[in-house]
Amino acid sequence: MLNRLLTLCLIASITCLTAAKPVKFPVTSEKTKYHSKPLPRIAIAGLGIESSTFSPALTDEVAFHAKYGADVFTMYPFMAADSNVRSQAAWFPAIVGKSLPGGAVTRQAYESLVNKTLDSLKKHLPYDGLYFDIHGAMSVVGLDDPEGDFIVRIRKVIGYKTIISTSMDLHGNVSWRLAQNSDLITCYRMAPHEDAMQTKKRAVENLIDRINSGKGKPAYKAYISVPILLPGEKTSTRIEPGKSIYKAVAPASVQPGIVDAAIWIGYAWADEPRNHAVVMVTGDDKEKVTGTAEQLARRFWDARKAFEFVAPTGTLKQCLDKAVASPKHPFYISDSGDNPTAGGAGDATWTLTQILARPEFKTATGPSLLYASIPAPELIKSAIAAGIGNYVEGYAGAKVDARFAPPVKLSGTVESIVYGDKDAEVEAVVKVGSVHVIITQKRKPYHKEIDFTRLGLNPRTAYIVVVKIGYLEPELYAMRADWIMALTPGGVDQNIEGLPYHHIIRPMFPFDKNMKDPDLTAKLVPVSGK
Ligand SMILES: [Zn+2]
Repeated sequence: MLNRLLTLCLIASITCLTAAKPVKFPVTSEKTKYHSKPLPRIAIAGLGIESSTFSPALTDEVAFHAKYGADVFTMYPFMAADSNVRSQAAWFPAIVGKSLPGGAVTRQAYESLVNKTLDSLKKHLPYDGLYFDIHGAMSVVGLDDPEGDFIVRIRKVIGYKTIISTSMDLHGNVSWRLAQNSDLITCYRMAPHEDAMQTKKRAVENLIDRINSGKGKPAYKAYISVPILLPGEKTSTRIEPGKSIYKAVAPASVQPGIVDAAIWIGYAWADEPRNHAVVMVTGDDKEKVTGTAEQLARRFWDARKAFEFVAPTGTLKQCLDKAVASPKHPFYISDSGDNPTAGGAGDATWTLTQILARPEFKTATGPSLLYASIPAPELIKSAIAAGIGNYVEGYAGAKVDARFAPPVKLSGTVESIVYGDKDAEVEAVVKVGSVHVIITQKRKPYHKEIDFTRLGLNPRTAYIVVVKIGYLEPELYAMRADWIMALTPGGVDQNIEGLPYHHIIRPMFPFDKNMKDPDLTAKLVPVSGK
């Protein structure tokens, strides 16, 4: 019922934008208005992964750690049982799954998760709203634009009366059909993504507000495709020009007549027509919405040549030479080509092989180097059998990505074994010469101080720390005495101009150096269902 009346209100608000008359809710009388108004019915669904099509790795269903029903709330602190957000709606969480970045998702895993989501959504129809929590850079074997496919299939189940609020990572891609089927759409404004939860909360609060106020779907969604494709490591919002481009987003989004504004950098390690930057602004004031989108897009385009890597870069040899000779420690080196949080397989051995071959690190008294990390399930078993303090040897890595180096032989002392990590499951440290190599049962990113200290390693007193990462995550960034990014080979090679793209739209910066200025006028995406 609420749904039907809400739609009538929607039609009213769309066809008569200037009317100041408040839109009425289905209440029986003014007196009982605040008590009889039923809570809006809001569903939650989404899948999040960033997956490289330039990596030989594949992602299965288990990797999504899918949460079902009420467990979904545990992913959002702002939706705790006693929270204000929670009290404002009747919630129907279906499934939310988040995977570490990786290779393309298998078609079977995708179909299974989508079908489970649709089955769950069917149980509680109808909905006034749906919060669609996605990353936006999922690649699925044999399927283009999976998030666009997913939302279309959700629409087939829930219909077009439901307002969908989509929140994304700024490294996600916004296809036209994703934009059309979303009524509210936004993304992070910070990279690294320190505002991830704030963004999700904004998406949910805007959804609740549009339902409860009776304003319904925003009448205008401006979409501008910006022909830029850059790696995240060149577009951090910590430094210019990303910093001021993104700083303009929040003030743009709070103008009267605007609901939200967002800029997507897009994802560089997949090869589809949707892989490029996008600006979107949603709201009820047509001129404001289109004008603001055009300003943001123009600013982004004009700054394109100023994007540089967030840290000094070099070959691995240059980076190691610099780190060994530097007076500043801990000296961090990003092993960027196989960064598992961008989509690398995480088990490429090229970098570790080069490190272990260097004479400085051959003896236990050499400069201490922490290496994070390399999956080695068999060597983990050997380490457990040998026990802490004892000698172990065996091969690590290159089970998935052996394109650049074969499995690396590690011979050394077991320093620690830790069980129970959500991603790694089992981790061990094997000391080879002066190198403390973290080996894992399954791949895992090392982004926090505790990721090291729980293994008995101290990243603050180490001479050199080499991590499979792109830009340093906040805790590591804060403790670095110096930092350089090694341009190493792998599934997320930072030298994207050398990657074999065939399907991205051309011309595209930086691939087509002398391209003409693109048309950056805003296109209005039809309201969902129109
Ligand atoms: Zn991201």
